[in-house]
Amino acid sequence: MRDPGRGHGPWNGRRADAALRRSYADAEPLSYWLDSPDRPEASAPLTGESTCELAIVGGGLTGLWAALLAKQRDPDRDVVLIERDRIAVAASGRNGGFMMSSLTHGISNGQARFPAEMQTLERLGLESFESILQTLMEHGIDCDLELGGALDVAVEPHELEELEPGAKELRRFGHDVTVLDREAVRAEVHSPIYLGGLWQRSGVALIDPAKLCWGLARAAGALGVRIYEGTPATRLRSVPGAVEIELEAGRLRAERVLLATSAFPALVAAARRRVVPVYDYVLVTEPLSAAQMSAIGWANRQGISDLANRFHYYRLTADDRILWGGFDAVYYYASRIDPALDQREESFAMLASHLLTAFPQLEGIRFTHRWGGAIDTSSRFFAFYGTALAGRVGYAVGHTGLGVGASRFAAATGLDLVDGRDTEATRLAAVRSRPLPFPPEPLRWAAIELTRSSMAAADERQGRRGPWLRALDRAGLGFDS
Ligand SMILES: Cc1cc2nc3c(=O)[nH]c(=O)nc-3n(C[C@H](O)[C@H](O)[C@H](O)COP(=O)(O)OP(=O)(O)OC[C@H]3O[C@@H](n4cnc5c(N)ncnc54)[C@H](O)[C@@H]3O)c2cc1C
Repeated sequence: MRDPGRGHGPWNGRRADAALRRSYADAEPLSYWLDSPDRPEASAPLTGESTCELAIVGGGLTGLWAALLAKQRDPDRDVVLIERDRIAVAASGRNGGFMMSSLTHGISNGQARFPAEMQTLERLGLESFESILQTLMEHGIDCDLELGGALDVAVEPHELEELEPGAKELRRFGHDVTVLDREAVRAEVHSPIYLGGLWQRSGVALIDPAKLCWGLARAAGALGVRIYEGTPATRLRSVPGAVEIELEAGRLRAERVLLATSAFPALVAAARRRVVPVYDYVLVTEPLSAAQMSAIGWANRQGISDLANRFHYYRLTADDRILWGGFDAVYYYASRIDPALDQREESFAMLASHLLTAFPQLEGIRFTHRWGGAIDTSSRFFAFYGTALAGRVGYAVGHTGLGVGASRFAAATGLDLVDGRDTEATRLAAVRSRPLPFPPEPLRWAAIELTRSSMAAADERQGRRGPWLRALDRAGLGFDS
C-alpha cells in the first residue's frame, strides 16, 4: 500500500503498510550513538557559589572544543564547562556523523554570501579539519573515523546537471573530486535509483559523534577543565569585573563566558532572535549481514546524500548498520524544543519507506533506533558570532545542520572574540556580520511553513524555484537543515 505523501522523483508516494510500520515499531526511541557502553557516567552538577576565569555554557562539540582549545592556549586558565543535561545529549550526540571541512554549509552557500572570503574560509576550514584529525591522534580519541569521502547522488535527471559544475567548484578550492556516471555510481553503491554521483574525497570524514564528544571531554578534563553536567544556566548578569551566571542551584562568577548553546534559547537576545530549532529525524537499522552488504556494495563506505532541497543523508556505522536521516525538516510553533518532539511517527514511516526505495534488496530489514534532534538553523546556514555584556560574553551558534566539522573553528573563533584577540578569523566579514533575525511569532511560523512547502514544491518541479523562494534568495535569506 502506498500513501500519496508528497515527495519528488523516486520519493513520490510512499509505502504505508503494516510490515513497514513493524520494521521500526520496536526500535529504541533514542540516538544509536548515545546507546553505547562507552557513554561515561554523568558528572555531578555545580551547586552553590563558584568562580572561574572562563565559563563555557554547552557540552556539545562547540563547547567541548572551546574547553580543550582554551586550555591548550593557556594551560593555567581556570576553565569550567556547564551542561544543562548530559555531554553530547543534543545535536552533537544525535547527528549523522558527517564531518566536513566546510565552514559555510557548502561552498555554494559561502560563495553566494562571502565570495571575496571564500578562498580564506575554505583554507581555514581545511586547516581546522586537519587539526581535528591531529587532535584525535594526540589525545588517543577513538571515534570510528572513516575517510571514504562523501558521495552526492542524483536520483532525478535534472540533478545530473549539478554534478559537473559542483565538481568544478570543489576543484577550484583544491578538493579531490570525481564525477560518476550511472554505471560508475551504481558500481560503488548498488541502488537502482541512482543516475550519477559526485564523490568528494578531501575534507570529509565519518565519525561516531558521541564518541568524539566523550573523547574531547576526557581530554579537556585531563588538562584541568572542570565539567559539570545537569547544570542549566538560566540568566547572565554583569557584576563588577565579571559576569554572574545564574544556575538552578547556585551561581558561577566568570571573567569571560562563551555560549555554545546551539538550538536552545540563547541567554543573549541578539543570538536568540537569529536561531530557530528545526527538527531532523533519523533511523538506524540492525547490522547488515554479509549477504545484505554484498547486495548493496558500498565497499568504499562513503557518506551519501541526495541533491534536492529535501535531502536524505545516510552512511554505514562501524558495525555495518545503515543510519538513514533527513528529508523532513520540521519546525514547531514558538521555537519549541521538547523531548516529546524527539519521536515523530510520520517521519519514521517516511524514512523507512525511502530506505527501501533506495535499497529494495533490504526488504524485511528492521530498525533498532529512531530519534530526532534540533538543529540550530540560522538564516545564512552557518555559525555566527557576537559579544554582549561589555564584551565579556561571546557566542558561537547557528551551524544549521553542518556543525560537526565546523564546531572546532566556531569554538576557536568564539574564544578569539571573547578574549579580544585580533586574528585572521575575527577580521572576516563572515565572522563579524550576523544573519538577519527571524521575525517573531506568528509570522515566524507562517514564513517557515511557506518556505518549507515552497522548497518541497520546487523539488517536485525539477528544482524550479517559485516566487517566494526567489524573493528569499534575493534577500540572502533561507531555510535549511
Ligand atoms: C539529526 C541531526 C543530524 C545532523 N547531522 C549532521 C551531520 O551529519 N554533519 C554535520 O556536520 N552536522 C550535523 N548536524 C548538526 C550538528 O550535529 C551540529 O551542528 C553540532 O553538533 C552543533 O554542536 P553544538 O555544540 O553547537 O550544539 P549541541 O550539540 O546542540 O550542544 C549545545 C549544548 O548546550 C546545552 N545547553 C543549551 N542551553 C544551555 C543552558 N542554558 N545551560 C547549559 N547548557 C545548555 C545543550 O544541552 C547542548 O548539550 C545534525 C544535527 C541533527 C539534530
